[in-house]
Amino acid sequence: MAEHIQVLKSEEEVDARIKQMGEQISRDYAGREIHMICVLKGGSFFMCELAKRITVPVTIDFMSVSSYGSDTKSSGVVKIVKDLDESIQGKDVLVVEDIVDSGRTLSYLMEMLRDRNPKSLHLCTLLDKPDRRVVNVNVDYTGFQIPDAFVVGYGLDYDQKYRNLPYIGVVEFD
Ligand code: 5GP
Repeated sequence: MAEHIQVLKSEEEVDARIKQMGEQISRDYAGREIHMICVLKGGSFFMCELAKRITVPVTIDFMSVSSYGSDTKSSGVVKIVKDLDESIQGKDVLVVEDIVDSGRTLSYLMEMLRDRNPKSLHLCTLLDKPDRRVVNVNVDYTGFQIPDAFVVGYGLDYDQKYRNLPYIGVVEFD
């Protein structure tokens, strides 16, 4: 099946929003250090751009999880594929995700991280699809709320493609 991409949020819109988010986060964390946790692979593009816009000291770590299920739906069963390199105990942790959909992945992940005793734990996502929420997740920073559509770009893939698009697009099938 052939697909094409319809622009939902342009490169300019995404860049401007990330700049705003960086400014807000810098204000909120004034005088502190942020330990950013990127959820691979989707969160990587967003985290790099966001980190560049944050003016307080930042350290970074990466985690990779996979959710069992079909390609476009998460099942709620989450497996840690790559764990963090460093302990988060006593740190001000900011989890950076690409998108919150049903909320199952993040709900599991945040619980697991909370058990590791960070000083604080907050969640930042570039995109949120609130209409799709099945499990409640407390999102502290949201780039854009978007409608229920399958999106790609800025780290998000379809069949491992399109992660490198500098904008957010909706996949449409011909
Ligand atoms: P949740 O557990 O919130 O349902 O799913 C979160 C994960 O599902 C995201 O990290 C992402 O990998 C994937 N996902 C959810 N919606 C989309 C979407 O619209 N596009 C893409 N590419 N992935 C999505």
